[in-house]
Amino acid sequence: MSDAPLPPLQIADVQQSAAEELDRISAVIDELGHRFRNAGHQLALVGGPVRDAMLGRHHNDLDFTTSAHPDQTEALLKGWADAMWDMGRDFGTIGCRKGEWQVEITTYRSESYDASSRKPDVQFGDTLAGDLGRRDFTVNAMAVLVPDREFEDPYGGVVDLAHRVLRTPGRPEDSFSDDPLRMMRAARFAAQLGFTVDPAVVAAMTAMSERIEIISAERVRDELVKLVCAPYPRLGLTLLVETGLAARVIPELPALALERDEHHRHKDVYEHTLTVLEQSIELEDRLPGGGPDFVSRFAALMHDVGKPKTRRFVGDGTVTFHHHDVVGAKITRKRMRALRFSNDEIDAVTRLVELHLRFHGYGSGEWTDSAVRRYVRDAGPELERLHILTRADCTTRNQRKADRLRRTYDDLEERIERLSEEEELASIRPDLDGNQIMEILGIGPGREVGQAYQHLLELRMDRGPMSEEQARAALIEWAAQR
Ligand code: ATP
Ligand code: MG
Repeated sequence: MSDAPLPPLQIADVQQSAAEELDRISAVIDELGHRFRNAGHQLALVGGPVRDAMLGRHHNDLDFTTSAHPDQTEALLKGWADAMWDMGRDFGTIGCRKGEWQVEITTYRSESYDASSRKPDVQFGDTLAGDLGRRDFTVNAMAVLVPDREFEDPYGGVVDLAHRVLRTPGRPEDSFSDDPLRMMRAARFAAQLGFTVDPAVVAAMTAMSERIEIISAERVRDELVKLVCAPYPRLGLTLLVETGLAARVIPELPALALERDEHHRHKDVYEHTLTVLEQSIELEDRLPGGGPDFVSRFAALMHDVGKPKTRRFVGDGTVTFHHHDVVGAKITRKRMRALRFSNDEIDAVTRLVELHLRFHGYGSGEWTDSAVRRYVRDAGPELERLHILTRADCTTRNQRKADRLRRTYDDLEERIERLSEEEELASIRPDLDGNQIMEILGIGPGREVGQAYQHLLELRMDRGPMSEEQARAALIEWAAQR
C-alpha cells in the first residue's frame, strides 16, 4: 500500500487480458449479441466490465449499452433472462439475471444537463460514439460491440489505461460542468484503480470544487463510500484534500492538517490519520466478514476529528487535546447525518470514535474486571472493530513503545476472552428446572426450590452435565439428607 505509482502496462498484455475475459463471458455476449442483432439493434459491452477486463479483473456484473429502447430491450430479454427488472425506465436501464450473470442494459444516451439542477436530464441517443462521449473518463468510454467483438475506443482509453491515468473524453471543465459528481468519481476511481489523475483534470477539479455543492448528499456519499472501501484510499483522499473538494464534502479531514507548533511537538494529525486508516485495513481480516469494511475504515478516518477543536497549548509548549474523543464523536455524527448515512452506520462509527482512547487508561493492566466488562459492554457489537482501531491508532516510530502498546492490548484482549468465558459459565443451568424440581419433590414454590436449584447448579459445575436420571437421583439424595 505504498505511494509508489504502479508501473505502466503493455498494450499487448492489455489486449490479451481483454481477449481472455471475452472468452470467459462468451456465452452471454454471443447469445445476447445475436438476439439484438437479429432484431436490428446494436449492443455493446461498455464501461466498467471493458476496463476491468483489460486490467485482468473479472466480474459477473456486465454492463451493456444499446440502440434499442427500454421496451425493445425488455422484449428481447424475455425468454432469455431468468429474471428481469426495471432499474429506472426513465434512465433507460433494464436489469436482468441469467445464471451467475448480472446484466444491465442501458439505451444509448445523449443527456443534456441543466447547469443548476441536480439530476441529469436523460435523452436517448442513437449512436455508440455519442454515448461514449457522455461518459466520465476515457478508460470508462470504451466498448466492445457484440457478437462481433469489435472494439470501440474513440478517446484513446486503452492508452490511458496502460499509463494508468484518468482523463475525460472532452474538456474536463465541460464534463464537470455537466455533472460535478464526476469530480468525486475521479477520486473514487483513483482509489479503486491506483491510477493518477491527469493534471488538466486536477486543475479543473480545483477550479470547480465548489460546484460539488449542487450534487445531492446521497450521490456524494455513495462515491465517498466506494473511495474509502477501495484498495488505495490514500490516493483518492489526497486528491479530495488537494483539490479542495474535501473542504466541501468532508471538511473535518483537511482540518486535520494542523500547523505544527514551533516545537514540532506533535505530528501532523492528517498524516497520522491516513496511516491509521492503512493500518486498520491491514487488520480487517480479524472481522467475521473480512474487508473492506466501511465502518472500520471511516472510524479510522474520523477518530481524531475532535483534535483541532480541543487543541490547547500548555505552558511549556506541549499540546493537549482533552476530550477530543467525545467532541470527535459529536462532529462525526453531524457529518454522517449531513451525508445521509443510515442510523446504524452513524451509531457504529461514532461509538468507535468515542471509545478510541479508552484503552489508554488501561496503563499496564490495572483495570478491574468490572472496567474490562464495561469496555466490552460499551463497545457492544463494535468490539472487534474497536480492537482494530485501537491497535491501528499506534503510529509511533519508537519500536519499543509500539511493542509495549501491542503487548498491553494483547493482554487486554486475553482478559476479555477469559472473562467472557467465565460469564458464559454464569449462564449455565442445572440439569433440572424449577418445575421438574417441584414435581420430583412434590413441593410448591418456595425457598426450598431455590436451594435445590442452587445445589444442582453446583453439581453441574463440578461434574459437568448429568442425565435426567442422575439429576433426579441426586436431587432425591439431597432432599433426604436435609
Ligand atoms: P462499479 O460499478 O464497480 O462502481 P463502474 O465503472 O461500473 O464501477 P458505475 O458507477 O457503475 O461505475 O458506472 C458505470 C459506467 O457508466 C461508467 O463506467 C461510466 O462509463 C458511466 N457513468 C456512470 N456515472 C457517470 C457519470 N456521472 N458521468 C458520466 N459517466 C458515468
Ligand atoms: Mg457498475
